[in-house]
Amino acid sequence: MEIAEKVKASVSTRDVLESYGIEVNRQGFCRCPLHDERTPSLKVYPNGKGWYCFGCHKGGDVISLVMQLEQLPFPAAVQAIDSRFGLGLIGAEPSKRDSEAAKKARERKEHRREYQHREAEFAACVGRPERRDRLEYLDNWLSEHRDWR
Ligand SMILES: [Zn+2]
Repeated sequence: MEIAEKVKASVSTRDVLESYGIEVNRQGFCRCPLHDERTPSLKVYPNGKGWYCFGCHKGGDVISLVMQLEQLPFPAAVQAIDSRFGLGLIGAEPSKRDSEAAKKARERKEHRREYQHREAEFAACVGRPERRDRLEYLDNWLSEHRDWR
């Protein structure tokens, strides 16, 4: 599903209007934010079927509503809804996941390098009585960090 479709599936026209502090009455009408009026003439249709204003004859879906409310082009309106409702459908999420995977890989590499480094030091201490304390320390460290290997 395209992001715009997902946005439309996740957020209703009523949700959007209410997030702008516009109250929708029981009949599904609200005062149109796109033209000046006293009595509600913007009809909100249920089940994601959009909206239509009988006063200024504008209408559409949630995205076109935000486009007109905020004077935004289509992609920016999609993005605005995504961040306003924390949908996480755009950009940020997958790239964050990527960078987390990269971070893990980098950590893994550093761990392995440190493990190998200490393993070499351990080998160098073997058979040297004056390094016995260090040897013991390294022995413990190596067995504690076996999963870094
Ligand atoms: Zn209107």
